[in-house]
Amino acid sequence: MGRPDAAETARLTDAVNRVLPALERFLRYEGEDRAARDRDTWRAALDVALPRTGVGTDAMLDMLARWVIPYGLRNGAPGFAGWITTSPTTGPAVSAFAAAIAGSQRWWVQPFNHLETVALGWLAELLGIPASWQGTFTSGGSAANLVALGAARQHAFERLGVDPSRDGLPAQQRWRVYASSEVHHVVTRAAAVVGLGRRSVAMLDVDDIGRLRPAALERALRDDRAKGIHPVAIVATAGTVNTGAIDPIREIADIADEHGVWLHVDGAYGLFGRLDERVAPLYEGLERAGSIAVDPHKWLAVPLGCGATYVRDRAVMGRAFTLEPAEYLEGAASTGPLQSPFDEFGDLFHDFNLEQSAQSRGVTVWAALAEMGSEGMRERVRRHDDFARHLADRVRADDRLELLAPPTLSITCFRYRGDVRDEAALDTLNNDIARALRAETPFVPSTTRVRGHLAIRPCYVNPRTTLAEVDGLANAVRHIGDRLASRAMTPAE
Ligand SMILES: *Cc1c(COP(=O)(O)O)cnc(C)c1O
Repeated sequence: MGRPDAAETARLTDAVNRVLPALERFLRYEGEDRAARDRDTWRAALDVALPRTGVGTDAMLDMLARWVIPYGLRNGAPGFAGWITTSPTTGPAVSAFAAAIAGSQRWWVQPFNHLETVALGWLAELLGIPASWQGTFTSGGSAANLVALGAARQHAFERLGVDPSRDGLPAQQRWRVYASSEVHHVVTRAAAVVGLGRRSVAMLDVDDIGRLRPAALERALRDDRAKGIHPVAIVATAGTVNTGAIDPIREIADIADEHGVWLHVDGAYGLFGRLDERVAPLYEGLERAGSIAVDPHKWLAVPLGCGATYVRDRAVMGRAFTLEPAEYLEGAASTGPLQSPFDEFGDLFHDFNLEQSAQSRGVTVWAALAEMGSEGMRERVRRHDDFARHLADRVRADDRLELLAPPTLSITCFRYRGDVRDEAALDTLNNDIARALRAETPFVPSTTRVRGHLAIRPCYVNPRTTLAEVDGLANAVRHIGDRLASRAMTPAE
């Protein structure tokens, strides 16, 4: 029986069933994480030469089930609070699988294309972004910030009579992007990629809890203007990755308006915080921005590879990112509606983005919101913000622990203090505690620095986490801290 190709193109149920038990087992996060301990074994199984004759579908899937899935990344385990990404919930994960099968290009009028538009609309409504803004899905926060900065760049240089997407940046002009010292490094990289340069990003002063100081922004803009330096964008962060601090958006928007500068809000992590009415006022003024970035693959827990950018001025975004007309593209949006000999093109995203061919990401956002509704998501955000507050209360109540930054959203920064007074010793001790947590307990935060001090930093975005893991972390830091501190004070034999 001749198959037309060496790759299987059907037998989906068989193939899925072959790996499903391994996936189900993985998702229970039982037993210890053996990825590190068994590294030599699984590497030996995978580090083989390119086969000339493939092993076939079944043998390949068996390898996947045996050597790959069991050793996968356990950042979805209930006690994992190290990063602002988690592993996806079931529904969005399955929707991504469905899109891989049935929606492998987001062109023409079909549901996987249409759901990009539906999901962008839902997400905008959920987060209070005006419906008239142009949205686009991206591969994540890195690309979302890059697209926003590309639009800001277009706007800023058109004001000088230059079309930067056509002609590049004018050699004789100097320019600047303004952000706080807590800005995410993907923003500085985006400045590099769009040709502004990493050094064009001014890293301005922050206050005690990591918020941009408006006075520092005002001063920098005035000083630069006097020197003929052209302002390209102000980047406000709505939820820094270190502490979850939210820059004062309304005050920054006032300054942006006064100076006629594009305001971009990086809310990759924290924009969902707007759903918690206790912190919602901190987002006032958001609709006065020129662009906003948000990452559904963080708090919304859709599969990795899903960010979004919204831009107020659709036309400027289009001038920055449109593709040139090409016959094989059946036209281009810039020359009028795209014509296809086969069908209507549907909603076009490749004129507002970095990608031409791309998977449907909207289907995963649609799946998450269709499943939970806005109230389900609000409940998640409030629960996680509560976790951070509960942990902060536990830290305040324990005289051997110290709170380093009060939570704004779902991040708490604290450290073990005990009787140790030496700052360098405290840094070492807390670093050792973080290592011991990962080696000995299911509670895995990350570390960061707050005003120079090493902090233990859990970030709660994981839908599987319960209060038991939050208390578990507080208890474990206390116990491990006591143990390591007493050992450090015992003279070596
Ligand atoms: C996560 C994050 C980014 C980077 O996004 P990726 O999806 O990791 O590329 C940028 N800015 C902020 C504020 C973030 O939280």
